[in-house]
Amino acid sequence: MTKRNKVKVVWRKLGKEKAWGQATIGENLIEIDPRLGARRQLEVLCHEQVHLTFPGLSETEVDRAGKDLAALLWSQDYRRVVLAPNAKPPRIS
Ligand SMILES: [Zn+2]
Repeated sequence: MTKRNKVKVVWRKLGKEKAWGQATIGENLIEIDPRLGARRQLEVLCHEQVHLTFPGLSETEVDRAGKDLAALLWSQDYRRVVLAPNAKPPRIS
């Protein structure tokens, strides 16, 4: 990802694809299954972003990076905050 194009994340059930998440490199698109638990959502999000950022990495390398990033963020208490529609995220440092 040389240009910092905004990544679009779509939450939908991924049955047929037999995956919890998938990244479409040319489109900067990440799709993720909303049935995952919170911890796995974070891991799959990290995993798919690593695919977009480093398209040449092997699945094994992407898997390690995704797991390490998610473990680090989770250990530092990063969690998803569900905002009301049209709400702006609070300004925090
Ligand atoms: Zn993968």
